Amino acid sequence: MSPPTGFCHQTYNFRLDIDKRMWFSDESMTGRPRAPSTPSGSAGTLLELIRRGDATTKPDLVELTGLARSTVSQRVDLLISEGYVIVTGETRSTGGRPPMALEFNRDLGVVLAADIGATHSRFAVCDLNAEPLAEMSVDLLVGDGPDSVLGRAEDAFESLLSEADRTSNDVLGVGVGVPGPVDFFAGRAVHPPIMFGWHDYPIRDRLADRFSAPTLVDNDVNIMALGEHWTLDKPVDDLLYVKVGTGIGSGLILGGHLHRGARGAAGDIGHIQAGATDVVCRCGNTGCLEASAGGAALALQLAELGYETTNSRDVVELVAEGNQDALHALREAGRLLGEALSSIVNLLNPGLLLIGGDLAQPGQTLVAAVREVVYQRSLPLSTADLRIQESPLGDRAGVIGAAALVLDHILHADAVDASIRRPRRTVSA
Ligand SMILES: [Zn+2]
Repeated sequence: MSPPTGFCHQTYNFRLDIDKRMWFSDESMTGRPRAPSTPSGSAGTLLELIRRGDATTKPDLVELTGLARSTVSQRVDLLISEGYVIVTGETRSTGGRPPMALEFNRDLGVVLAADIGATHSRFAVCDLNAEPLAEMSVDLLVGDGPDSVLGRAEDAFESLLSEADRTSNDVLGVGVGVPGPVDFFAGRAVHPPIMFGWHDYPIRDRLADRFSAPTLVDNDVNIMALGEHWTLDKPVDDLLYVKVGTGIGSGLILGGHLHRGARGAAGDIGHIQAGATDVVCRCGNTGCLEASAGGAALALQLAELGYETTNSRDVVELVAEGNQDALHALREAGRLLGEALSSIVNLLNPGLLLIGGDLAQPGQTLVAAVREVVYQRSLPLSTADLRIQESPLGDRAGVIGAAALVLDHILHADAVDASIRRPRRTVSA
């Protein structure tokens, strides 16, 4: 696959520093997801072991990979000279010279992360562990169109970079989440219902050109799932993240990897048949889960009872005030959601089910209702190890996930190996 038009031209117009060699990889630029790396013992796979904390010394790596000590030593030295790994001191030894303690260099560069929402967006400059170094939240209408919104995003990134004392030359990747369906391979939104003017707009190419770095674009719920998965204390391979806001959507991590499906449409549970069959959904069908249990639907139901509710935030406010009608509506929504999710739990057997979005926030009402129904209706084996809880990251899941999205790509063992293999090039303007 060829790199986006204009990319090479632009890249050769500035002085290139060593950290950015990976950008010359066509594969890096296309955003095509990489297959899980195989334990080949390459420098990239050794880095993975160090990053995950599975290995902190060369003897650890020898033991884990079965490689010869000299091979491990040579590859680790390469990782150190390339800046991927730093030596943080000596470990305690049981005799002889203590081995060096190795650590992934999270400050090798930074990634830019954007979680673009319908009415507000969050931007961050993150280190290579997806930890934000500087971040901001901006009121921004996605319906203003891509030129306006991405222009604001670029300005936000520039000011966050200077706040973090970094420059665009330190940027190793850009991750973006948008509130609509995305063709992940093209890095473009596809007929997004609430993103006026964004259909087929080259989001990825614009930001890749602007920051001369691999850029990946995905839908907001997918990146939220990634953010939660990335920051878990105890790793879980199969995770289902459900966002209940105005609408309802989900992100699936299966076998440790985000599952996008054949065309990137996986996880759209809002349009599963559940609930009242006579309610017309915005998709044109009747009986969709979202049309009965989404925030917009609850606002409508409460408005019919005489409340001044026009959106999910109004519903959240009523619930927070302890309003019984609102609590009842939210509990019913939780039950419907639980019914839909119990089928999905039977099908996919996740280990962790996280509920996020506006409506997950007030107390535990929604989560409690979901929990009750799922444990009741799913098969015992599929719920034996299942935990159901509120999203730990809350409204920061998206921006951390956007960083995780691109970090998974640029720190993949193959990408690291490719960047090490590539000869040094110093190109001046
Ligand atoms: Zn629908």
